[in-house]
Amino acid sequence: MDSAILLILMNNPCIRCGKPRIDGKTWKEKTANSFIIHTQTICPDKECQKIVDKATADRIAKNELMVKNKADAKLAREKALADSKIAAAG
Ligand SMILES: [Zn+2]
Repeated sequence: MDSAILLILMNNPCIRCGKPRIDGKTWKEKTANSFIIHTQTICPDKECQKIVDKATADRIAKNELMVKNKADAKLAREKALADSKIAAAG
């Protein structure tokens, strides 16, 4: 049985300029036995939205970099540990 859950985000004002945001992209997300319709709201000012998009992308990129750095540091620690064991054994 398909039932659609319509998720409309609250009409938040733009975080940058404070204008009421308008409906932008709409997409469906499949769940186990249903699907969810997401509606992303965007700033009516295209230039402003571009800046907001860029800021969001930067934030996501920074987060990903942080996660990657953490994983790299963990690998480096493990490698250093393994190397010291090899040195001790050899
Ligand atoms: Zn705006």
